[in-house]
Formats: sequence, structure tokens, C-alpha cells
Amino acid sequence: RKEERVAIIGGGPTGLMAAWDLAVRGHPVTLYEHEEFVGGQINTIPRYHLDDESLKIDLARWKNLDITWVAGKRAGVDYTPKSLLAEGYEAVLVAIGASKPRELNVPGEHLAGVYHALPFLLAMNERPGGLFGRTGRRVVVIGAGDVALDAARSARRLTQGGEVLLVYRRGPEDMKATPEEKSGGEIEGVRFIFYRAPKAILGQDHVEGLVVERTTHGPPDAKGRRSLVTVPHSEETIECDMIIVAVGEVADVSGFDPDYDFKFSSMGWPEGKRPDWMTDVEGVFATGGRSVVHAMAAGGRAAAAIDAYLAKKHGRAPEPRPDPFGGSEPPPVVPPGYGGATWTPVTPGSGHGATRSPAPPTTTS
Ligand SMILES: Cc1cc2nc3c(=O)[nH]c(=O)nc-3n(C[C@H](O)[C@H](O)[C@H](O)COP(=O)(O)OP(=O)(O)OC[C@H]3O[C@@H](n4cnc5c(N)ncnc54)[C@H](O)[C@@H]3O)c2cc1C
Repeated sequence: RKEERVAIIGGGPTGLMAAWDLAVRGHPVTLYEHEEFVGGQINTIPRYHLDDESLKIDLARWKNLDITWVAGKRAGVDYTPKSLLAEGYEAVLVAIGASKPRELNVPGEHLAGVYHALPFLLAMNERPGGLFGRTGRRVVVIGAGDVALDAARSARRLTQGGEVLLVYRRGPEDMKATPEEKSGGEIEGVRFIFYRAPKAILGQDHVEGLVVERTTHGPPDAKGRRSLVTVPHSEETIECDMIIVAVGEVADVSGFDPDYDFKFSSMGWPEGKRPDWMTDVEGVFATGGRSVVHAMAAGGRAAAAIDAYLAKKHGRAPEPRPDPFGGSEPPPVVPPGYGGATWTPVTPGSGHGATRSPAPPTTTS
């Protein structure tokens, strides 16, 4: 076991993989997460794509490593990477992903019945009945990426007798969603409405409709890309009783001072500018990934970079990458009745002696 403590901020696949790879190299790791559960955006993946049991089995693999779990504490509010360095961690990985919803910035966006896609999908996985008390609803999803399709297809599963409309300001050829998601939506009865840009959300206490304007292609912009213009006097109202906004996510780095000078990936997560993802603050690294596999690969590479940085600092050779899943051991089995990955919050600042709360309880077969 090494003395050099490492802190990781974010318990999504990037942070989890980095925690694993550092812990099996012998580093005491503390993983800070502002939610009460681990897994990050994996928790928003609809259950028709990823079932609960598989997720629990995977998370159970993190048990028994030298990882201190700190839940319910937010970087930028309760601590910062720099404050963790000052506390004695020798390296910090920022693995916070990009899960702050991008806003539409139209009037009415904060009416009841308007959801952003990630909280909607999370709630769908946790308590769908609470979101849709009745059938026959008309739901409008705004956006055209995979998350928009996940939201539309999830809403479709709970609107028997109702309708789900996906509204996009461009045409079908510009949709970012994969062909599988698009055809999945079509087969399941999602209705696509193209070339409509949201202008306002109507309603008194609750959403009643979406005002849209027609759009069309204008002259190419300076980079030669097709621009989009709204057609004058083309407003129309789409009646609905729920709107799901799925126009992208950004990282929430409020509370992080500018010294880190993050660069942001095209999908919004913060990264360090150096090839090893170190930021402008020595010892603070940042990375993420656009899919679970990419994020886990990024976490593994960040762990190697952090280990190499600490090895150089302490004049020793870096550790080779250990077998990430412990060789030929059988996979863990989740005990019956186990409800999910729960964490015991500890007080930041209490250091490595903090209460250790392992990831999900597990037995091996
Ligand atoms: C709806 C949806 C469906 C998807 N479907 C798929 C799919 O089918 N297949 C696939 O491979 N990928 C899918 N993805 C993408 C995949 O989930 C992400 O690429 C991956 O989760 C990114 O991992 P990450 O660890 O970098 O970030 P995240 O998963 O976003 O994890 C970041 C973690 O950091 C925490 N955090 C954020 N800010 C702070 C802070 N200030 N302080 C402390 N903690 C913080 C968050 O709570 C979160 O737990 C999907 C994503 C979404 C949103």
C-alpha cells in the first residue's frame, strides 16, 4: 500500500474506473460524489437498454478495494480540487461528466410539466408512476440526439392512448441520434416534427402548449455550413401537457476557480489541457468520455497518468496496469433484496480516516 492519497471527484464510469485502477495499484483513494448513488449518467440509461440487475452486479465489483466513498458532497460547494490538495491528497481527478441540462431559454421553461431529459430519465428509472399518473397524455420532446430519443421512447412506454411528438428545428438528415435510436422511435410510434424551433411554452400553472416557428435553410455561413432561419409569421402552437427538453448537457463547473483552465470536450465535460490530462494546477487532472466504454477507458488512462505523475514525484517506477477485473475470479453476485449502491456520507476534511463505506454489498458464487 502506498502513502500517496488520491481524490476523485465524480462517481460515474470515468471516476469509478480511475478509482479501481488506482486502488489496485496500491493508492488509497477517496471518491467524492454529490449524489447519494454511484454510476453517474448510467443511472439515466433507460431500463429497456440496461437492466437494473446488470448495473448492480457491475457496481458490486468495487467492493473490498481501498476506496473511501463520500456521497452527497459537491465539488465547487463543499470542497474544491485545490482544497483537497491542501488537505493532503497528492493528486485529484475531476471526473464530473456533463450533466447540467442546457436550457432552451424561452418563456415558460420553468412551468410545471416541463422537464429536462436527465432528471426525467432518472425519475423514469426510479418511480415512473409518479411522473405519469394517467394515460392519454400528449408529450413533446425537444431535441434530436440519443438522449432525446431515450426520453421520447421512455415517454412512449407510459402514454398508452396518448402521443409523443419529437420536435426538432432542423431536418432528419441533421439528427444526431443513431439510426438504431431513430428507427426504434419510429417503430414505437414517436411522431417526428422537423423544421420547428421552440419560441415559448404556454400555460398558467402547468404547461399547456409549445409555440414553435417554422425554420428553413438560409445561405451558408462563414464556414460553409447550412444556416437556419425562421420563417416570418409562421408561429403555431402544439398543444401538450408535458414537455421534455433534451437539447444537450454541459458540465457544472461553477465554484471551480479559473486557475484550472479546463478545456471542454464537444460533449461538454472538462478536461486538462496536457496530454496526460493534467490541468494548469499541478496535481489536478480532468477527463471524461462519450460512452460508458469511452469513459471507463479515459478513467483507466487517467489512473495510469496519475500513478506515473506520483511515481516520478517520489522517484520510483510507475506500476504496470493491473488486470482490471481481477483475473479469473467469478463475477460477484448481488444478494437478494439488495436495493442499489448506497453510500455513507463522510465529512470532507476528515481525511483518510473517514468512515469507509464500500460500494454495494456482495457475495461471490
Ligand atoms: C440518457 C443517456 C443515455 C445514455 N446511453 C448510453 C448507452 O446506451 N451506452 C453508452 O455507452 N453510453 C450511454 N450514455 C453515455 C454515458 O452514460 C456517459 O458517456 C458516461 O456516463 C460518462 O461518464 P463520466 O463518468 O465521464 O460522467 P457521468 O456519468 O456524468 O458521471 C459524473 C459523476 O460526477 C458527479 N458530479 C458532477 N458534478 C459534481 C460535483 N460538482 N461534485 C461532485 N460530483 C459531481 C455526477 O453526479 C456523476 O455521478 C448515455 C448517457 C445519457 C445521459
